[in-house]
Amino acid sequence: MVYKLSSADLQGFIDGATAGIHSVDASGAIIYANRAEMDMLGYSEEEYLGRNIFEFHADKTAITNIFSLLQQNRTVVDHPATLLCKDGSTRDVLINSSAHFEDGQLAYSRCFTRDITEHTQAKKALLESEAEFQFMADAMPQQVWTACHDGTLDYVNKRVADNFGVTTEKVLGEGWITFIHPEDVDQCIKKWKHSLLTGELYEVEFRLHIEGEGYRWHLARAVPLIRDGKVVKWYGTNTDIDSHKQADQKKDEFISIASHELKTPLTNIKAFIQLAEKTVGSPKAPNFLKKAQHHVMNLQRLISDLLDTSKINAGKMSYNFEELDFADLVKESISNFSQQSPTHKIILESNADVKYHGDKFRIEQVLVNFLSNAVKYSPDADKITVKSAVQDANIVVSVQDYGIGIEPEHLTKLFDRFYRIDSTAMKYQGLGLGLYISSEIVKGHGGTFWIESEPQQGSTFYFSLPLKAALPEDVDTDDKTFYRTNFINIEYNQEHQRLEVDWLGFQNLESVQKGGLLMLEFLQKNQCEKVLNDNTNVKGNWSEASDWAGKVWFPMMQRAGLKHFAWIYSPSTFSALAAKKSVDVMIGDVQTQFFYDRGEAVEWLSDGESYLK
Ligand code: ADP
Repeated sequence: MVYKLSSADLQGFIDGATAGIHSVDASGAIIYANRAEMDMLGYSEEEYLGRNIFEFHADKTAITNIFSLLQQNRTVVDHPATLLCKDGSTRDVLINSSAHFEDGQLAYSRCFTRDITEHTQAKKALLESEAEFQFMADAMPQQVWTACHDGTLDYVNKRVADNFGVTTEKVLGEGWITFIHPEDVDQCIKKWKHSLLTGELYEVEFRLHIEGEGYRWHLARAVPLIRDGKVVKWYGTNTDIDSHKQADQKKDEFISIASHELKTPLTNIKAFIQLAEKTVGSPKAPNFLKKAQHHVMNLQRLISDLLDTSKINAGKMSYNFEELDFADLVKESISNFSQQSPTHKIILESNADVKYHGDKFRIEQVLVNFLSNAVKYSPDADKITVKSAVQDANIVVSVQDYGIGIEPEHLTKLFDRFYRIDSTAMKYQGLGLGLYISSEIVKGHGGTFWIESEPQQGSTFYFSLPLKAALPEDVDTDDKTFYRTNFINIEYNQEHQRLEVDWLGFQNLESVQKGGLLMLEFLQKNQCEKVLNDNTNVKGNWSEASDWAGKVWFPMMQRAGLKHFAWIYSPSTFSALAAKKSVDVMIGDVQTQFFYDRGEAVEWLSDGESYLK
């Protein structure tokens, strides 16, 4: 039996359909719409029928396009469009439509609208989450990567490409292997293959070649994403652990040096006590005990250096500030020290007769450290010169020896913990802690330190202590073109449109930061691009400020418009090296040039011509 559907049946089909169906006449007026379509948009029949379909399209280009296809009697297939709902929201749809022509004219068209809003939203969310993942991965300080189940790399973050100095494509697939140190490749591949085979966590340490820096130790780690019992992807990171590795290595070296250093006096003490025992009653015995005593004192000094270092590390170094007579302190320290060091005559050339507020024991420790180094590193000399004087409201103490001297490249590092010069480390005993502790003590008193040295001629170690904790500043300024005070003079040279800065006297981190921020302010106020930075009159040490100047201050100055920076060296090698360090660690690209001569610096700034040194 063949059934024939009635028009009521057909209507039922249309109304029951989940897709929207409508029909519009040649002008676009809606002549029919099914329930699904009106429900989708939230309109009743009265509100929808008779109105023009153009009104319901958010994207007019789409409906214009559809209409023009229909006018050409062409079928519209899955044309994307966005429809407006009554509540102001929109629905993303795909439109299929065909035209009905009568007498060569478009009479009406039939249109099917399929709601794909959920699908497009899900797609958008996916794209957004991919973008977020990428953003997060790029923001990480580590190298971030993903690999397919078979181990081929299919994603790396920006840092990887930046680190290796190549395009991402060069790293993907198997490309990353070429950046691993040849000695570490085998071990790394072995572990990676093992993880791929077993799905176990991948963890390995290797050296990666970083552009401009060479090989650096990294820790690679990756975990598998498992679905239905199968690995579908690996998520990994490579973290730079080079400084930890080096610190570990330094610590190991230090433990070995420290044990050796502690053992030597102990062996001597044991030997002299045995000799004293054997010679009890004889006139030799007290002499042996005296020698043993000398080594006990050495041992005591080593142990207190170690204790001081751990106090400094824990931020627990404390000071007993008291009013003291500085000249007495210097005299007493030298006299006590001389008794233990008969090899060298210590000449006190000048002594500042001044009252000082500080920690007597700790300042003596600094002086004794300088003196014992002077003796230790001048085995062929027989004298040491000490001076103490008041300069620009600072007590400046210098200890000069006529010994082995120091090559310039080591100068600014000597005050670092454990730093010893390789070429001399084997010859002279020591832990490399004395100057580190001294510098902390000097800083604890608001002072600064520096060195002048000539290899094979000898060295002079200086420290300065401010007489008043914070000097009331005597400032003369018009707030725009000049600022003159005790540690810095800033002038804006209108004619040459440059800031001319003269640093004066003793500088430490605090004064350099203060002066640097003043320069920033005056640069901004005068909107200038050039700075003539004169360090000719600098005393003391810029070293503490090098990192700050390079990483924080130069970028700020660059943002404020700085383009050319002419730096006139201080005559002190120590300060000059520290100035150079600021530029070496500089982030950004201000054009800087160093000069020994002010005239050359001015010329360079005037015509922008660079002088190659
Ligand atoms: P130590 O003398 O125990 O090694 P210091 O911290 O006192 O440790 O000194 C660090 C390094 O600085 C020394 O190892 C040495 O290389 C160098 N040094 C210190 N004082 C002098 C000096 N007067 N002359 C030459 N080199 C010196």
